[in-house]
Amino acid sequence: MPLSLCDLGDDDYSRRMAHDALRAGDDIRAEDHDSYCILAGRADAGLVLLCDHAGNALPPGYGSLGLPPEQLRRHIAYDIGAAGVTRALAAALGAPAVMTRYSRLLIDPNRGADDPTLIMRLSDGAVIPGNRRLDATERDKRMRLYYQPYHRAIDAVIDRCLASGVAPSLLSIHSFTESWKERPRPWHVGVLWDRDRRLAGPLLDSLYAEGDLIVGDNEPYSGQLEGDCLWQHATCRGLVSALIEVRQDLIRDAAGQAVWAERLCRIVAAVLSTTLSQRRPVVVADKAVRAGTPQRPSVGEQMEKGP
Ligand SMILES: [Zn+2]
Repeated sequence: MPLSLCDLGDDDYSRRMAHDALRAGDDIRAEDHDSYCILAGRADAGLVLLCDHAGNALPPGYGSLGLPPEQLRRHIAYDIGAAGVTRALAAALGAPAVMTRYSRLLIDPNRGADDPTLIMRLSDGAVIPGNRRLDATERDKRMRLYYQPYHRAIDAVIDRCLASGVAPSLLSIHSFTESWKERPRPWHVGVLWDRDRRLAGPLLDSLYAEGDLIVGDNEPYSGQLEGDCLWQHATCRGLVSALIEVRQDLIRDAAGQAVWAERLCRIVAAVLSTTLSQRRPVVVADKAVRAGTPQRPSVGEQMEKGP
């Protein structure tokens, strides 16, 4: 039985109690499903948090996808520290969150259905034996059981937020490796965005103003990845969104996650309070269609094309 994401890292008792208090009377209740979980929050909080790469579990029957178990503890399997930061942010801001349970190596929820890196055969030098020979049946099974439920849950949470009369901003929490191909990455944190800077701009300004951070603007990746999670749920619905990447060595342990959650909570709360009036949905014209389901080969040979 995989460990529940909602139970991970619960050493912070007070944080857990705050979240339990939310469950009692809040609009969006905590839910624990096979491939994802929802953290409770107010539907009118003006914010939905997402964590696409929260977990490194694998469903029964998949073993370790043929990998040595230690490979599943590496960044190739999930975004180290991102779940803890997301959980703490959700509790502190009273915002609902949707988080995955299973490893991105099973299927990557932050890719379009037709993206060639949806299911990776090779990731940062590691061959994924369990993905080597993937037929259409297995691919469709992973889509049906481990990809679509997460995206449906995000849509449902957004729908409930919109019904409250307050359009939510979407904020996706990720982490990145401190080096890539032996080149150190200087940024402490990055803000990724596509074509809408309504949230990313103020977030970047606030992070620059901290004074002690090297901040990436669409670094270490571009936020312009068509079909990714924010494209599906924010761009196509005209919702304000941004993606925050924290360097994983800074949030590897609970202490680091707490420090970064506190910093991001302060910044995000201030940004949301000043952008509240801008949160009506505005559909971006040429992306006003939902991500389709074109079926191109979707087994990837590379990594790091995006968050
Ligand atoms: Zn990620």
